[in-house]
Amino acid sequence: MISDWFKTKKPRKLPRSPASGPAPAAAPEKFDAIVVGAGPAGSTAAYFMARDGLDVLLLERGPFPGAKNCGGAAVIAEQIHDLFPNFWEEFPYERIVTSLEYWWLNEDSAVTAGFTSGRLAAAPYNRLTVKRKNFYAWLAAKAVAAGAALRLGHRVASVILDDGRTVGVRLAPPQSAAVLADIVVLADGANSLLAEQAGLIPRLSPLNLSLYAKETIALAPETIEERFNLPPGQGAIISLIGHPTAGYNGTASIHTFRDSVNINAGIAVNSFAAGGFGPGDLLARIKKHPRIAPLLAGGVTLEYGAAMIPEGGYHAIPPLVHPGLLIAGDAGSLVNGTHGINLAMWSGRFAAKAAYAAKTSRDFSAAKLSLYRTLLDESFVLQNMRANAKAAALQRDAPYLFDLYSRMLNEAAYLSVRAYPMPIKAKRRFVWRKVTSLQPVGKILADAWRVLKVVKG
Ligand SMILES: Cc1cc2nc3c(=O)[nH]c(=O)nc-3n(C[C@H](O)[C@H](O)[C@H](O)COP(=O)(O)OP(=O)(O)OC[C@H]3O[C@@H](n4cnc5c(N)ncnc54)[C@H](O)[C@@H]3O)c2cc1C
Repeated sequence: MISDWFKTKKPRKLPRSPASGPAPAAAPEKFDAIVVGAGPAGSTAAYFMARDGLDVLLLERGPFPGAKNCGGAAVIAEQIHDLFPNFWEEFPYERIVTSLEYWWLNEDSAVTAGFTSGRLAAAPYNRLTVKRKNFYAWLAAKAVAAGAALRLGHRVASVILDDGRTVGVRLAPPQSAAVLADIVVLADGANSLLAEQAGLIPRLSPLNLSLYAKETIALAPETIEERFNLPPGQGAIISLIGHPTAGYNGTASIHTFRDSVNINAGIAVNSFAAGGFGPGDLLARIKKHPRIAPLLAGGVTLEYGAAMIPEGGYHAIPPLVHPGLLIAGDAGSLVNGTHGINLAMWSGRFAAKAAYAAKTSRDFSAAKLSLYRTLLDESFVLQNMRANAKAAALQRDAPYLFDLYSRMLNEAAYLSVRAYPMPIKAKRRFVWRKVTSLQPVGKILADAWRVLKVVKG
């Protein structure tokens, strides 16, 4: 079973106190590197550091990797292939995504666009849907097989600083031990409290943090293929824009897995406060939508969860390099739109490279470790984020964009398909007047200009 893979390496034992009498103060364990969090960023960093011969400890608070996540996700296989060649041959993915759709929704209709191609079904695949637990377990198993020691149920309570340099971590109860290392890689996910408490990054603004709800709904594989018009084994991702995010900018989507479907939706934390509703309300909007409800009919809810995504974009990236410490993945706000897993893995890869260079030169200063930032800067990770740098501000400054223009699009489509007893020119004028009654032409042009500036970068 995949969940057993990561158990193959026997974890080293932490020093134990004798049963009776006060324990002599045992010297803390020491590693070349400690990685906090066995998610995509942490397990990738641990794998490459261990593969390069470093003595690595990978700490995960959950009882198994992925325990703190739910449902599934889509990964960009082409980018993971560069890290783990032909990984799909050993990893049980769910579906090969060959259909990518965008639906602009109002409350009762949808304007859609999409791309479907059998060419996407050929390796190296573009996107694969994966079950989180399987993916996290597989990745952690790779790190263990490369020689990293994985300890589950170990929550890091704080990083240990000595004269401004990170020298290890302190574990929360029940272990309550200090563990030392030359380098710590913080890969503890969105809203890294460890980095914040240590004063390494500023507190994340609720404007830059989105809360997502996710529901996994079981459906038979044939039902999924019939309803989503898919050949056997192939999958679809539908991005939902407008109605699901209740008048605020945010994202929502439907992902197909082998025998289940995920729906998820999220908006900025402060938008929930402003709107006075919760993440579950967004899922309810999706499930009730007349265009979506038939796709989910008869499905049984398997899981439900909520999680955060740091969506502040390029300008919200905190300092990632500190003496003796690197921040990777979501903890460093390395998320581009809703793409996070691939960026997390690549940041883990680059953190490992920088850690190896520091170890071989015995120099753990921020200057030496800044190789990490250089590698990120030179790669698609930060170049893509930089290209989208203005998108986050646009979403914040014009929170009505997704909802308003989805409604306008649907209204224009509805009025256009209606056959009114009037000449075509009069009908065009009528549709234009109706649609621009939702947003004056001057404001439409101003919004178009704003979007253009974001696209131009
Ligand atoms: C609803 C939703 C849907 C998404 N869908 C997609 C998608 O389809 N494709 C995509 O690419 N991205 C998606 N993302 C984003 C993606 O999940 C993240 O970008 C990615 O998981 C980041 O990886 P990470 O390793 O940095 O953090 P995480 O995956 O969050 O892993 C962090 C790990 O650290 C552990 N941890 C935390 N604190 C401690 C501690 N103190 N001590 C020990 N361990 C700790 C956690 O238990 C966890 O295992 C989605 C996110 C959400 C919320």
